[in-house]
This record gives sequence, C-alpha cells and structure tokens, in this order.
Amino acid sequence: MFGGMSLEAPITWCLCFKPKLKTNTTNMQPPLKSRSRSRQGYTTTVTNAMALAFEVLGRFNRARAARLTLPHHVCQTPLFMPVGTQGTIKGLTNSQLEDIGCQIILGNTYHLALRPTSELLDEVGGLHKFMNWQRGLLTDSGGFQMVSLLHLADITEKGVTFQSPVDGKPMLLTPEESIEIQNRIGADIIMALDDVVKTTITGPRVEEAMYRTLRWIDRCIAAHKRPHDQNLFGIVQGGLDPILRDICAKGLVERNLPGYAIGGLSGGEDKNSFWRVVAQCTAALPEHKPRYVMGVGYPLDIVVCSALGADMYDCVYPTRTARFGTALIPEGVLKLKHKAMADDTRPIDPTCPCMVCKNYTRAYIHCLVTKDAMGSQLLSYHNLYYMLQLSRNLHSSIVEGRFPEFVCDFLHKMFPKGDVPEWVCDAMEVAGIDISSCCAPFSSCEEYDSKSMPEEVSLAR
Ligand SMILES: [Zn+2]
Repeated sequence: MFGGMSLEAPITWCLCFKPKLKTNTTNMQPPLKSRSRSRQGYTTTVTNAMALAFEVLGRFNRARAARLTLPHHVCQTPLFMPVGTQGTIKGLTNSQLEDIGCQIILGNTYHLALRPTSELLDEVGGLHKFMNWQRGLLTDSGGFQMVSLLHLADITEKGVTFQSPVDGKPMLLTPEESIEIQNRIGADIIMALDDVVKTTITGPRVEEAMYRTLRWIDRCIAAHKRPHDQNLFGIVQGGLDPILRDICAKGLVERNLPGYAIGGLSGGEDKNSFWRVVAQCTAALPEHKPRYVMGVGYPLDIVVCSALGADMYDCVYPTRTARFGTALIPEGVLKLKHKAMADDTRPIDPTCPCMVCKNYTRAYIHCLVTKDAMGSQLLSYHNLYYMLQLSRNLHSSIVEGRFPEFVCDFLHKMFPKGDVPEWVCDAMEVAGIDISSCCAPFSSCEEYDSKSMPEEVSLAR
C-alpha cells in the first residue's frame, strides 16, 4: 500500500496480451533431458535447455576470456553492453554500433513495454527485427526500472506494484509477466525479476529480498516459454551480507541456469564493499557459465571485476556522461565544456583510432556540446568506442597471456603518480595480479570514489 492508492485489485501488467509465441527460433543446442526434484520448502523443475555456449579461451588466475555464442551473435568476453533504453542508443545508428564492435545491446523492458509495447514487438517478430539489429540483445526484468523511476512502487510476494505512468492506475508486474513480456521482445538473454534493495539498506529487508528473489526465480523458470532460444539469467542478491550472498548464489546455481548476474551493486556502496561482493559471487558461480555484473560501467570497475572473474557489464554511464560533455580517456575523463578546450586543436584522445578522434578536434566538439546535439552524439560514439576497445583489450590480453601487463599499463595511465586506490590494490591482490610497479612507494592510496565524479553517480543502471 502506498500513497493512498488502493492495491486491492491491481491491473496485471499484460492483461491485454495474448500469448503468441513464434516457433521459427534458433536452437543453439538440443535440449538436454529435464528432470524434476523436490526439496524441503519448494519444488522446482530443472531444465538444462539453454541457448548459449560459453567457451573459456584463456585465463589469468580468476580472470577469463571466453567466446559466448548467443542465438544472434558470437561474442567475446569480457564485454560491455551499451544501454539502449527504447531499442536505440541515443544518437548512434546500428551500423555505427557495428563499426565500433558493439556485441550486445541492453533494452529496458519497462520502457519497451510502454512504447512501442511488447505486443507490437511480438507482431513484428521481436525487437531484433523491429530495430533491425542483427547482433545480441539482453532485456532486464523491468522491476528495477519501476522501483528506481517510479516513486509509487511497492514490492509484495506477488510482484512489483506500481502506479501506471500513463493513467495513474495501480498495476502489477509479476515474475510470470516479466518473463512473458521478455519472451515477446525476444532478446538473446532475459533477466529474472528480482527483489532489489539498495546496498545502503541494512536489516531484515535485505534477507527478505534475497529469499524472495530465490522464490521468484522458480516462477520465472516455470513461466519461461522460450528456453531454447532465450537464456534466462538469475540474479544474485543479498546486499553486502556475505552469508546472504552465499545462500542466494548456491540457490541459483542449483537451478542450473544458462548464466548468472550479480545484482544490487552500484547503489551507493563503498568501493571496498563493492569489489568484495563481486569477488565472493564470481568465486561461487560456475566456471562454465557467463557472469554478469549489473549496472557496472566505470572503466576502472570493469578492469577490477574482470580480474576477479566477471565477464559482462552494462551501464548508461558512457553515453549519459557524453551528454554532459564528458569524454572517457585513458587518463580518466575530459570535460569538453571546459573553456580550455575552446582553442585545443588536438583530438579527444590522440591515441584513439575512432572516427571522432580521427576527424574532429576538441575545439570543434567544445563548440557543439553547448549548442548542438551532434556534440553529444560524437562524444557518445567515442565513449562507447573506448568501452568496447577496453573490452577487446581485456579479452586479447588474457588470451595472449599478458593480462597483468595490461592491468598495470591501464592503472599507470589513470594514476600516473602511482596513487592507485587502496581498494584496487586489495582487489588485485585477491585476483593474484602484482600491480606494485604502478603503485608509488608509500602511496597515500587516495580513495577513488565514484561520488567524486559529478552528474552520473546514481545513474549506473
Ligand atoms: Zn575516439
């Protein structure tokens, strides 16, 4: 119950939807035999059908580089997924996204279900056809968007109840409906509806959310109609509590899902807590399945998480920060709005081979960012190129056996004075990577804190 709004008879999210599932789907591999089992407290059907292949091509301690074969694309991990809220990355065409090596786009189920609606997407053969994107797609469950965007949202055992942004009526998104909508959208990877609480929240609510997430995964599995061409990922919750994270990871692994996500991070927790949760979860998740850290997109975070054994990332940060006039460069960020850029005739990053850096100066983009949408489009292009190139460099350095050198080079450029944050030093020690050559002796280990980066802090996902 919230805001004086009666929730006694919420309208279901897809009340008017008719099941209409396509059969012309691609089977990645024949389904293995399903089996059922009973356990105390719950009964679940375990299906081994999955629509992906995950082949590890190289390792360095916990870090791995893999080939992830999805129904629509063969990907290389580690990989970064740009967020295309309504089936588009703002300001970039599909051919540009292909040119810069984008492998998977993330679509927000909540936004897609409102417009163009999942019915229409189903009618036209799914989001791939609608947006004419030939490569991988991933959709989220929709629940996080509701809880984060709509203040009048509430979570009960049934699902996420919220006030319709269209007509103000109470509506309900259940695990079953989230999966049904995602089945209509047709992405290669779909996400279970989970009960997300901010990592800054403590107490019994965290435990409640974790157990509810485990109960909901069985409802998601049961509702999933396309396991042979869509991969359902479960999401490990449990806040910053290692015991709860452990219970959740084990519970999800028992369900034998095609892949797993580490959720609930990038919610304002300190970086020390952040990397420890990632390290714990990657260690608890299967070696032969992809591991996706949700909402993570700062370059430094991606390097650290990859060293700890994570494979996939998404974040609005590179494109969001571009719209604020900020470029990602090896040294950190470059603010193109700054008056010092007005007569700077160098490219954004002289070492970057992207189309923007080859053709435009900082001075030119400085003029545009304050006056023309083209400015943020060019910056989005460069920033996504930077993230995708970072992904490729992570992959190739692991495969070629030079991952520690790559990490040291990355850190040296970002922290030329050797003031590598202490949490990075601690994480790399656990990852078994010696970064002493890029840390200053007796370094103060200044705390790198995403809060010190303006405008994007809470926009991680
Ligand atoms: Zn560039």
